This record gives sequence, structure tokens and C-alpha cells, in this order.
Amino acid sequence: MTGTELTGEERRSELAANLAEVRARIDAACAEAGRSPETVKLIAVTKTFPAGDVMSLAGLGITDIGENRDQEAAAKAVALREAGIDVRWHYIGRLQRNKAKSVAAYAHMVHSVDRPALVTALADAASRVRETPLGCLIQVSVDGDTSRGGVAEKDLPALVDSVTSRSELALRGIMAVAPLGWAPERAFEQVAALSEKVRGAVPDAREISAGMSGDFTRAIGFGATLVRIGSILLGSRSHLR
Ligand SMILES: *Cc1c(COP(=O)(O)O)cnc(C)c1O
Repeated sequence: MTGTELTGEERRSELAANLAEVRARIDAACAEAGRSPETVKLIAVTKTFPAGDVMSLAGLGITDIGENRDQEAAAKAVALREAGIDVRWHYIGRLQRNKAKSVAAYAHMVHSVDRPALVTALADAASRVRETPLGCLIQVSVDGDTSRGGVAEKDLPALVDSVTSRSELALRGIMAVAPLGWAPERAFEQVAALSEKVRGAVPDAREISAGMSGDFTRAIGFGATLVRIGSILLGSRSHLR
């Protein structure tokens, strides 16, 4: 459901109900993992949904929004700013260098840093359009198939050095998507091990962005600190993409 058939008020109640359900599941996963719910931040992934939905979610207490296309994210960031609503934008999609300047201007954190050329582009852009360092997560490829984004484990240490060599960037941790066909547990266990490696070099890089609608409860079991939730909160995007 896109929400276009609903009135604004009906859509807001739908989002409120979905959000309550997601929060309850996060709390239950945290309880099961012996973690405090405050250690897991919910990022609402609003790609393909209108700025009005972001505004409704902000009204329901959501502070962090995920988007995967620059053009769409930039337009929503303008709409929210013009409405006087303050949210943090997380850029979670594949990122081309020529979009770095745009993204660096509105993003709180880029989750998809996966190659040295992108580090250079983001840092150069950040030095021109930002006053504070741009938060970065290195996207790791758990299965080594880097065609779907992410850095292979063997190239991770060099990429960590590349990010930390630039004062315009702040390395906050890593991000991963469980590979198709893998048991999520196997993927997230590996992500936890890679996070430990990164923290060995950069103790502050503690964030683990892992878990989507279908697997976030298991990601929480393996230490995820940022969960990126789209469809169970906003509805299906299958007819759009
Ligand atoms: C779309 C997207 C999500 C959210 O996916 P859902 O399955 O709808 O929760 C999370 N992470 C990334 C990188 C995405 O592109």
C-alpha cells in the first residue's frame, strides 16, 4: 500500500500502528539478546515514499531517515527543512562520485562508503559544503561479491586507513546487507567479526548498520546498532521498483 488511497489522517494512523509494531519487535529482540533498546537506533527507510510520510514519521518520534537515491533524498531534505522539521538523513545506497557534493550537504551519515575514490570525493566535497565532519560507515561485502556494493575483507584495512586519513570524515563503523541466499545468522556473525576488527584500529567506529525488514531481529542478536527498516513500516515498494 502506498498510502495514496488514504487520507492524510488515515495514513498517519497506519504509520503509527506499523511503527508501534516495529518498536515492539525491536524491544523483544533486544530483550532476547540482553541488550538495552536504547542501543539500537531505528532508521526509517523512506525511499519511493513521499516527503509527507517523512513528516508524519518525524511527528511520531522518528529522528533518522534512510534514502538510497540522491535526487530523491535531496528533494525530501529541502521539503523537510522548509517545513521546519529536523531529521537526520542516512544515505544507504550505491553512491557515484559525482553525487558526493550533493550528499555531503544534507547527509548525517553515509553508510555505503566502499572504495578509496569515493572517500576522496566525499572528503573533498565535505570540506567545501560542511562545517562538521561527515559520518561514514564502510560498507562491507560479506560474501566478497563487490559487484553488489561493499568492500571485500582483504581490502577493508586499507579503506579504514583511507577514511581516517581525512579530517573531513568521521569513521563511525560498518554497514552490511546479508547476501541473498545466506542464512542471516551466518552473515551477521561475520559482520560482527569485521566490526571487531575495525574497532581494533578505530575504537570509536562502533556502529553496526545491519538488518532490514526481513532480518533485523537477527541482526540485533549479533550487535546491530542501526537497523534500516523500510517496507514493514511504510508498506510495499514492489510495484514501484
Ligand atoms: C531499501 C533498503 C533497506 C530497507 O529495506 P526493507 O526490506 O524495505 O526494510 C535497507 N537497507 C538498504 C541498503 C536498502 O536499500
